[in-house]
Amino acid sequence: MHLITEKIEPLKKRIKMLEKKGELPKIELLLNELKEIIIQENMERKLCGMTSICVQCGIEGKSCCGSNIEFKYSDELLLINLLYGVEIPEEPKFSDMCLFLTDSGCLLFARDAFCINFICDKIKDKLSPEKLKKLRELEGLHLKLQFQLEQRLKRFSDVYYL
Ligand code: SF4
Ligand code: SF4
Repeated sequence: MHLITEKIEPLKKRIKMLEKKGELPKIELLLNELKEIIIQENMERKLCGMTSICVQCGIEGKSCCGSNIEFKYSDELLLINLLYGVEIPEEPKFSDMCLFLTDSGCLLFARDAFCINFICDKIKDKLSPEKLKKLRELEGLHLKLQFQLEQRLKRFSDVYYL
């Protein structure tokens, strides 16, 4: 079993514990705000043309989502994805690639800053900074909210020794 997959059951138990302690409603607003921003961000990624460039790149087998990037994900960020209902696979779909990469791209809903901030030369050549401006603003908001949420979850862990 993949090392990340081994963390999933304990993280699901953490969610149950937070439910039991009545802590989940305290982060509901933040979760909803983050969800809204990520939806807008994904729409803007499509509108500016980035999504189709990445899809084509994936079809050509040149995606930048290499193996071991999954280990950049903190327990809290994995937990956030579980709270959004993301199913984590037991094994990578493609050998030598990130565990979270699928035929249709990244399966995560809330991605790490490392993945969000990366802009390859292909994108830089095809999309001007003006075209990427709104997307970058939304990504900034996304990362700010996500950081706040991760901090809240870390604090719960300190209180309950999770
Ligand atoms: S960011 Fe660049 S290298 Fe990565 S999938 Fe998109 S086009 Fe390909
Ligand atoms: S974008 Fe998703 S699939 Fe690609 S490296 Fe990041 S987590 Fe992995």
